[in-house]
Formats: sequence, C-alpha cells, structure tokens
Amino acid sequence: LCVEHPLGAGQAVPLDPDQAHYLFVVMRLEKGARVALFNGRDGEWTAEVAEAHKKRGILVCVAQAAPQLDPPDLWLIFAPIKKERTDFIVEKATELGCARILPMQSEFTNSARIRQDRLQAHAREAAEQCLGTFVPPVEDLQPLSKLLSGWDTSRRILWADEALVGPAETLASLPPGPWAILIGPEGGFSPSERAKLRDLPFVTPISLGPRILRADTAVCAAITLWQIGIGD
Ligand code: SAM
Repeated sequence: LCVEHPLGAGQAVPLDPDQAHYLFVVMRLEKGARVALFNGRDGEWTAEVAEAHKKRGILVCVAQAAPQLDPPDLWLIFAPIKKERTDFIVEKATELGCARILPMQSEFTNSARIRQDRLQAHAREAAEQCLGTFVPPVEDLQPLSKLLSGWDTSRRILWADEALVGPAETLASLPPGPWAILIGPEGGFSPSERAKLRDLPFVTPISLGPRILRADTAVCAAITLWQIGIGD
C-alpha cells in the first residue's frame, strides 16, 4: 500500500477512508494482520494493523522489508494519446524505472488536456503492483516549446523519431548522467519541431528500428534500451 506518511520502526501510520475501506472491507484484514507499506522515500516496510474500522484505521511499522530502490535519473517526456494508452504509458514508465514523467503538447498532439491527478494515481498503482518503492511524479501538460526553452541543459534529451535517416546514435556511445527520453504523438513530430530539435546541442536523436512503433510501444522500447545502455 502506498502512503504519504513517513515510515520507520514503531511509526504509527493513520489510514485515509479509501485505504481503510480497501484493507478492512475489501481485503477483510483485522487487527494484527500484516501489510506491506511504501511511501516513495523510505523503502518497503512491514506494518501491523493496530486499529481497524470501516473508514479509518492505524498501522504500526514493524520492520523494513526492502530498502528504498530509486530509479536511475531518467525522465520521460511524452505526448498524451488516447486515455487508456496514456495510462499504459505512465504505468510502464513507472515499472521500467523513470524518475519523472512530463506530458507535453506538440503540434500534432491530439489530447489538449490530461487528468494529472488520475495519471499520478496510475503511477502509484503501478509502483504497488510491481512492488516498487518509488513513485515518479507525473507533471501537468505543457507545450513542448515551453519545456525546451526552459530546459536545464545539463540533462540531455534522447529524441526518438522514426523519420531519422542514417546512423542515429547508438546507445553505447551515449554518456552516462541525467537523461530524458522524448517520444512524440501518434502523428509524430512536425517538420518545424524536427528542425528545432536537430539544432539543440543537448538533444541526441535515436532510431528505434525500421518499423514505425505506436507511441506507447516506443516508450517501452526507448526506456528499455536506455536502461540497458546507460541505466543501472
Ligand atoms: N510519425 C508517424 C506517423 O505519422 O504515422 C507515427 C509516429 S509514432 C506512432 C509515435 C512516436 O513514437 C514517434 O513520434 C517517435 O517518437 C516514436 N517512434 C515510433 N517508431 C519509432 C522508430 N522506429 N524510431 C524512433 N522513434 C519511433
């Protein structure tokens, strides 16, 4: 269970109504039962149910079950697509290990808005399901141009684009350090976006192979390749 509260030996963790309902009504846990907790900072803790009510309860941390496992310093910049597939992108980026998720609006992005709170909940659920202890923050939607103009260039951007001709960088030649992966919308990047990205010194182009991948497939392929080439 993902909680906001600090975790530590003997730490009491109050539950919100939804968490209490899930544990004590849906899962039918009772006083004395053990629950695995994480908060994204303190690793995974085994906690015991000290108080159990329909809409509230208290758990007490007993022992740390796993150390905090932070992902490598990799961000994902992606263009939201259809709702379910955007949810899929956030879930897979969490499972595969991303430290931050930045939805962006490019010229051909067809989703003019996102539910940032709902996507953040998907990242939390994905971390719970893969027994992770880190939940990447999912930022609000912002224009690609604004994101690039305010970019901290100490973080390089790996730009995946199927239109790239010729020998794009291979992963092995990329320097370690903070990176972000940039994946475009279903309609791809516009000619002016491509021209702009080609001119930015902190942007490295990469091809994900000869076939055109769906944006959500490209996210999984790019993160996995980066993790193999640079991640840890
Ligand atoms: N531009 C294509 C079109 O108009 O049909 C489709 C874009 S593709 C569905 C969505 C995104 O996935 C692209 O913007 C790119 O970031 C990434 N992508 C898909 N296939 C790729 C490939 N073979 N190499 C690199 N990136 C790829």
